[in-house]
Amino acid sequence: MPPSLAPRPRPPLRRRSTPHPPPGYSQTRALATAKAPSSLFSPLDTFPDRHIGPDDKEMAGMLSKLGYDSMDAFVADAVPDKIRSSTTAVSDESIPALSESELFRRAKELGRANKPFKSYIGMGYHNAVVPPVVLRNVMESPAWYTPYTPYQPEIAQGRLESLVNFQTMVMSLTSMDIANASLLDEATAAAEGMVMAFTGSHGKKRTFFADRGVSPQTIAVLRTRAKGFGINLVVGDALQDLGDKKDLCGVLVQYPDVNGEVKDFSGLAESVHASGALLVCATDLLALTMLKPPGEWGADIVLGNSARFGVPAGYGGPHAAFFACTDKLKRKMPGRLIGLTREQHIRREKATSNICTSQALLANMAAMYAVYHGPVNLQRIAQKVHGLTQVVRTAVEGFGYKSVNAQFFDTLTIDVSGVASSADAVHEAAVKSGINLRKIDDSTVAVEDVVALTNVFASAASKPTLSIADLAAPESLAIPEALRRTSKFLPHPVFNTHHSETEMMRYIYHLQSKDLGLVHAMIPLGSCTMKLNSTSSMMPVTFPEFSAVHPFAPKDQVKGYLEMIKELEDDLCKITGFAGCSLQPNSGAAGEYAGLSVIKADICLIPVSAHGTNPASAVMAGLKVVAIKTHNDGNLDLEDLREKAEKHKDNLAAFMITYPSTFGVFEHGVQDACKIIHDNGGQVYLDGANLNAQVGLTNPAICGGDVCHMNLHKTFAIPHGGGGPGVGPICVAEHLASFLPSHPLIATGGQKAIDAVAAAPFGSASILLISWAYIKMLGGTGLADSSKAALLNANYMAHRLKGHYTLRYKNGKGRVAHELLIDLAEFDKAAGLKVMDFAKRLQDYGFHPPTCSWPISTCMLIEPTESETLEEVLRCYDSDPQGGGDIITGKQPKDNNLLKNAPHPLSWNRPYSRETAAYPMPWLRERKFWPTVSRIDDAYGDTNLIVSKPVLCIERGTHSSRSSVTAPP
Ligand SMILES: *Cc1c(COP(=O)(O)O)cnc(C)c1O
Repeated sequence: MPPSLAPRPRPPLRRRSTPHPPPGYSQTRALATAKAPSSLFSPLDTFPDRHIGPDDKEMAGMLSKLGYDSMDAFVADAVPDKIRSSTTAVSDESIPALSESELFRRAKELGRANKPFKSYIGMGYHNAVVPPVVLRNVMESPAWYTPYTPYQPEIAQGRLESLVNFQTMVMSLTSMDIANASLLDEATAAAEGMVMAFTGSHGKKRTFFADRGVSPQTIAVLRTRAKGFGINLVVGDALQDLGDKKDLCGVLVQYPDVNGEVKDFSGLAESVHASGALLVCATDLLALTMLKPPGEWGADIVLGNSARFGVPAGYGGPHAAFFACTDKLKRKMPGRLIGLTREQHIRREKATSNICTSQALLANMAAMYAVYHGPVNLQRIAQKVHGLTQVVRTAVEGFGYKSVNAQFFDTLTIDVSGVASSADAVHEAAVKSGINLRKIDDSTVAVEDVVALTNVFASAASKPTLSIADLAAPESLAIPEALRRTSKFLPHPVFNTHHSETEMMRYIYHLQSKDLGLVHAMIPLGSCTMKLNSTSSMMPVTFPEFSAVHPFAPKDQVKGYLEMIKELEDDLCKITGFAGCSLQPNSGAAGEYAGLSVIKADICLIPVSAHGTNPASAVMAGLKVVAIKTHNDGNLDLEDLREKAEKHKDNLAAFMITYPSTFGVFEHGVQDACKIIHDNGGQVYLDGANLNAQVGLTNPAICGGDVCHMNLHKTFAIPHGGGGPGVGPICVAEHLASFLPSHPLIATGGQKAIDAVAAAPFGSASILLISWAYIKMLGGTGLADSSKAALLNANYMAHRLKGHYTLRYKNGKGRVAHELLIDLAEFDKAAGLKVMDFAKRLQDYGFHPPTCSWPISTCMLIEPTESETLEEVLRCYDSDPQGGGDIITGKQPKDNNLLKNAPHPLSWNRPYSRETAAYPMPWLRERKFWPTVSRIDDAYGDTNLIVSKPVLCIERGTHSSRSSVTAPP
């Protein structure tokens, strides 16, 4: 047995018998130790004290254990001199700190500068009614918004069930065979559909045809994506001018189309199929309760935006796109899929899609909307919307206008010529009434609204206004027989049970009780930065002044939003040291894709240790990937880099680098590496997922980068939502600023802008408020202090784990960055214990396991973040799964032991006692999180197929009845 594997005596603090508080530290992390106010007039509700876990005294204790007498001395050892800067623009002068109540007032003030008009603009965005029970208990509940992506299925059964509901709902409404658990937005979903059609033809057919009735923002995003793949995108009338189909790989139609017309595409489907191409259809879930679903008339792929099911417009997002396809295409489907097995989403340079973070929280909200309303109520809502639209048509035609649509669901195109002086005159009359015109809309349209709307047309036609009594209910539908839905939908019990608020509330709570989030414990996922998502920064998101704003509202109605956006862009530029910013991308991976798209050329150099989304994004942006070696310690092989940069210098586009590296290393050679690339004519793309170690101490510009993306849902405190939403803005140096992405409807981006990368001009605008608030409340000093505390927590944990686990990397001064990589290979060799056994055992301790098997298969990557107190860091440290020693010395059998059997739910059939399994530490008696199921076989879930219903236990990638839910004894 190697000496390091002998059961080791633990230092006294480790085996402390009184866990609360750790010896020597006061239990209450009290305001007594927070900074004293400088005067009677200074605020007491300052945010850094709430955000940063350890207080000054605890930090002094940790520093002294590491051998430092000051934070500065520690930081000097952790961060290389060469890149450390006292001159970053992150200071109290450039970013003054607001207290929590000051931030609240400032957000209210900005909100008042927005005018949330009644919107009839449509184009995929609606004034959705969020059921209050879902708003308060899901959207505003940390139990739903703080968990991570459900990679650990045993402690994620609640949201996995809800995501299965989402998929089931989409499959049923679209009548398709299979659906995924959300994509970023409708436009990128359409782009994924296009790429599926293209790769389905094995790249042999390069023409993709988009119908003119498709929303312009969708076409803009298709255009961007088509470039990367070399697809020839043609826009025209799909029913008229499809032309020669020899090179056709697919056709995209919209149903109902952007002007409200409902067309019969069944003939088109036949002729498209006859040519061997695919028919892709963008649609509206509410309309499908009344319209014949695309699956019944021949669509191969059906997609759209589910926000209409109770997700606020939020000036563009976030919301969940849905994506469904036929059984034949399921193995090519992008994104995360619960309930079926197929290759996982990221396939490095072989990828055709780079979806990692998606929109879990918003998919859950949409699913809950369907659960709450059920098929009957959903159809009633649709019928009301449709009926009111007809009422408006009749009234407006009474004023002499012509309604252009013959068949429609909820959108009318009104020809105003000859009646009003111009369309502008009607718009002006509408704006005076607080109405933005484009369309009439879902259940928020009360009769009063219809009256106001019709009277806009009355006044523009100089006709007397009408009252409710003058409006007549329609006698028939404006949908032809052949396009009406006759098939049943949502017959499943879950959509037909929880219709009272009591039942709904209990269902929501029942599901959330199975999931572990930050409400329970630290989630030390390396590279994912699961820090505090403060209530003070979350609150403005659901202020109606922000949530009820349409993304294509005129700019003079969104002054508050634009001011907040400008401030956030400026602050992100200060933090990164760059000149320009685009907030459009809806995830880190989408940011990578946007950032690479502003650089043009051919070859992209990527270290083998990079996150899987890096090569995937590069391929999508049309780049060829060349891998760069790394040394054993995680450092780049600079010689290999130089050789390959020189070899490809004629068409070198970019070098992608994560900094600190994915090993948790501040590489000393980062500037040298960037110089090699610049000398050979390339640009440096810095993956900013690890910016939490940099903010206020250094920045991507100092390191030598030209572009970076940031994960606002990591470093800048947007919650992970159980798997999304995310925001992945990019910042770029001066010379690239003019290429930042544009938008077809709202002016954004630079002079030489690339096409849009997302449907909305500022992406998921409403949640930008969270990062804006986070930065404003920390202020310059607080931001830098957070980075320092993150470094300290990680280094302290590394120090405590030393001697028990092999730390894979530390720098010359013995320090790690904001995360640490431990290698468990020795345990496998000695006793067959795998990384996953340790991870599952950690669940018994009530923790979410760290990032497993990445970037090295035998390792765990641990990131405590600055938000965790010393007590929590120690609690987690104490939870390194003991028992490994017993197994090595034979005290426990190798195949039936505490680690192999973990996690341990409430039920019992093990050879050791429940006490030993469930309460390895005394504090667990008071604070125990019970996994609701026993170990789920990940590998099985990845390679075997579904049992569709009933859902007993949902595996990663699979829900099957094999592992049963264990009932409490
Ligand atoms: C999280 C992460 C990404 C991807 O971000 P998503 O928002 O999940 O798309 C990319 N690179 C690194 C290093 C990351 O940690």
